[in-house]
Amino acid sequence: MSDDFESLGVGGTFRRALGDKGYIQPTPIQSQAIPQLLQGKDLLGIAQTGTGKTAAFALPLLQRLDDANSRPKPRRPRALVLAPTRELALQIHEELTSLGRYTKLRHAFIIGGVSQNPQIKCLAKGLDVLVATPGRLLDLAGQRHIDLSEISVLVLDEADRLLDMGFVRDVRRIVAQTPKTRQSLLFSATMPNEVARLAREILDDPVRVDVSPKQLTVKEIDQRVVMVGNGDKQRMLEHLLLDDEVSRAIVFTRTKHGANKVARKLEGAGISAEAIHGNKSQNARQRALRNFKNGDAWVLVATDIAARGIDVDSVSHVFNYELPHEPESYVHRIGRTGRAGASGAAWSLVDPSERNRLRAVERLIRLSPAEVAVQLPPRDRRQPPA
Ligand code: AMP
Repeated sequence: MSDDFESLGVGGTFRRALGDKGYIQPTPIQSQAIPQLLQGKDLLGIAQTGTGKTAAFALPLLQRLDDANSRPKPRRPRALVLAPTRELALQIHEELTSLGRYTKLRHAFIIGGVSQNPQIKCLAKGLDVLVATPGRLLDLAGQRHIDLSEISVLVLDEADRLLDMGFVRDVRRIVAQTPKTRQSLLFSATMPNEVARLAREILDDPVRVDVSPKQLTVKEIDQRVVMVGNGDKQRMLEHLLLDDEVSRAIVFTRTKHGANKVARKLEGAGISAEAIHGNKSQNARQRALRNFKNGDAWVLVATDIAARGIDVDSVSHVFNYELPHEPESYVHRIGRTGRAGASGAAWSLVDPSERNRLRAVERLIRLSPAEVAVQLPPRDRRQPPA
């Protein structure tokens, strides 16, 4: 397999942008996908965030649009990337912007939860690439601000999550409005039946690239289980977070309410934390992420859905305040640490009632995280305010 971007067929304009970003070696999904996509093939990519999948589709997408040398018409974008969450849409948009910086290609993202007027203006000017979440896209298409009849490339990113979040009908409606002659790409971290069915409907004789890192990633992460009753979890979490080894951590809770509560109590204990979940406004979510990225808060408390697509380097520890319902989510969660070869640690706080969930996780990852006994420090008599 080729191991530089030039031999994959990436042109000088984009190699310059890659150099600015410090991407020197293509990742495995980039090596496998880029030449095929440049030839116009459809692609089924089994890959999760952290593999470099965004650049794997963004580079050939931008290069083909740039080579075609045509200008976008008002309201008729030339390419569409569908993403399940606003955070992911934003990250894709940022990647497109940096990789396309030496071209004249225009791109924008449209997401729900913010005013539609600037989005309508952007669409009216004409876009080469539109990144969107399904709800707002259909909304604007229904109002005739978007016409999908000129879409030449369609990308569905994190298809499993799109389906999990109940977007399957929306996705089908959107696809139906695009031309059949389009190039189609579908990326998914997992391949449950519904995703496989959607892939069959949408893709035409696709190349399949599987870089699912399950075994590898999971093995590289130091995983521990601490058996602790629900009533002591908060105290245990605070105790573990204050270990010197923990420099930046993501704590996962099952519910939005739980995320808020844990974050509030951490703040009360003097640990600067931010919560991120789907009930927060777009601005509040961006602010929380920014504070976490720049180190103002070193703990991020998140729900599974909100955390998908968040890409923050050097997370030293992931804590599972509760185990997830879906064992696959455990793999996604712990994949937030130990990125790009760095070592990472994942600690799960497990109440005895969660034993079955733990077994399900162990079956999936084919590994039993070490169970460690951690002594809780004596209760502080000066309880901080709740
Ligand atoms: P993704 O899977 O697209 O979310 O990318 C995960 C992370 O890898 C992001 O921080 C990218 O900026 C980074 N990345 C993607 N491709 C490369 C590359 N070829 N070399 C170095 N970093 C990369």
